[in-house]
Amino acid sequence: MMASHSRVDSERQTIEAMIALACRDWHGTKNGLCADCQELFDYSCFRLAKCPYKEEKPTCEKCPIHCYRPDQRRLIREVMRYAGPRILLEHPILAVKHMIASRRPVPPPRSKRPKRPGAQASPASAN
Ligand code: SF4
Ligand SMILES: [Zn+2]
Repeated sequence: MMASHSRVDSERQTIEAMIALACRDWHGTKNGLCADCQELFDYSCFRLAKCPYKEEKPTCEKCPIHCYRPDQRRLIREVMRYAGPRILLEHPILAVKHMIASRRPVPPPRSKRPKRPGAQASPASAN
């Protein structure tokens, strides 16, 4: 199978590493994730898969849409606040990639872009 290096895959890896770091330190998990953190990770993957920006996506913390449910948004923010500064030591490559991604300009949502003649409307994102 060919390895994927897409922006979405890279963000999925970063989120997984950050949640795993927080889960280990907060919940004492030695391997994998506890049930709550697994739920947060699964939800994040679901949102990533539905992201209307696709491969042009900004980092979620800079996103003007922020598609997360309020409870999951609060949780992921807590994880990011805790794991963000610590991940540099444990996963320097992921941390640098995330830093570079967070400096990219945020593109306008696809639904707000001028339509090309003959182009189909983009499908709306579902919650
Ligand atoms: S928060 Fe924004 S960038 Fe992140 S998945 Fe949702 S729509 Fe995409
Ligand atoms: Zn946990």
